[in-house]
Amino acid sequence: MTTNGEHTDIYLDYAAATPVDPQVLEAMLPYFSENFYNPSAPYARARAAKRALEQARETLAHAIGAKPASITLTAGATEANNLAYAAVNGPVITCAIEHESTLACARAHNGRILDVSAEGLVSPAAIEAALTPETELVSIALANGEIGTIQPIREIARIVRDERERRLQEGEKTPLYLHTDATQAAGVLALNVASLGVDLMTLSAAKIYGPKQVGLLWAREGIALKPLILGGGQENGLRSGTENVAGAVGFGRALELAQACREQEHKRLSSLRDILQGLLLQAFPWAVVSGPKKRQLRLPNLLHVSFPGIEARRLVILLDRQGVSVGTGSACAASKMCISHVLQALGIPDDVAAGSLRITLGRPTTKSDTREAAQIIIDTVRAECARLGIHQEESHA
Ligand code: PMP
Repeated sequence: MTTNGEHTDIYLDYAAATPVDPQVLEAMLPYFSENFYNPSAPYARARAAKRALEQARETLAHAIGAKPASITLTAGATEANNLAYAAVNGPVITCAIEHESTLACARAHNGRILDVSAEGLVSPAAIEAALTPETELVSIALANGEIGTIQPIREIARIVRDERERRLQEGEKTPLYLHTDATQAAGVLALNVASLGVDLMTLSAAKIYGPKQVGLLWAREGIALKPLILGGGQENGLRSGTENVAGAVGFGRALELAQACREQEHKRLSSLRDILQGLLLQAFPWAVVSGPKKRQLRLPNLLHVSFPGIEARRLVILLDRQGVSVGTGSACAASKMCISHVLQALGIPDDVAAGSLRITLGRPTTKSDTREAAQIIIDTVRAECARLGIHQEESHA
């Protein structure tokens, strides 16, 4: 949306939240009203709700090339990540730029938390070196939501497979799984679990134009998950509580739509992101763009840009007053008054980190939104530079 009457109204924080797609909402609505029944109830009308739930599971499974029975619906990605970690008892390996929900689980498992490169890449060789005969889980997100790094998950999968093969040949019984949190990748990257080579995968509806507090954990057949929430035994005993039928239906529709427009959106969003990046760097050649330099290693809809010496928290407020909503770091970290763990892990100096915006484009973002937002950001950064007496080399294009 470019204008709201007289006022600019441009939302550029789609990595934090996406609006529910009207088609998703339409699919969900009957399950709040005429088809509100408890899917476990014994009468015919409830069976329609049960069918809708199972149909949604099939849609979700189909979208990731999996079997419906291997999908456990959860209240979002945080819970799915927790469920993945609960499947193992032994040591785990993850990396320093994972989402807090992953890092917290890894710490609870006394996990090895690997460093990443300055571009946020985890090295498959470092994972190989960190594996011990006791390791039970390697957990690496498919893409990072703060700087957009896409991890070499297929290479990591090969290493995990080789170690599993070695254990098999040597008669060792310790299991080893590869988990990926694909929350930020969904909608722009391919999610076929066999092609990725993963054993467990987390997804969230909230980042793909579906409802919040709806997610899933896919687990390869043969992996024994352990429930975190005990009770009535829904979701095959893995996630008790009356099922969120409307949420599941919305999630199914959202993932179906996301997959259908994935390639086209990837192209469109990366070209808008390049326009935005180009305009900002043209105006401020001293600004710092974080994340991989190679475009194919970065999420297409994400620009992480720092203006050293400028306080991003103030910049966000100034932009907000002009109708442009962007993030500083990740939304999770931004509510805390500290520099995000992701930027710290990349070794970004404090003054650069403190001056960084995370700008994420989404399905409703147009080229004119992008250009208008760029101009507002440029004007605001220039005004901040003038106020602070920052005299960097500047182009007045
Ligand atoms: N993992 C990643 C990569 C995320 O970006 C988020 C949301 N910011 C989460 C997990 C948590 O998702 P949810 O809010 O659905 O629990």
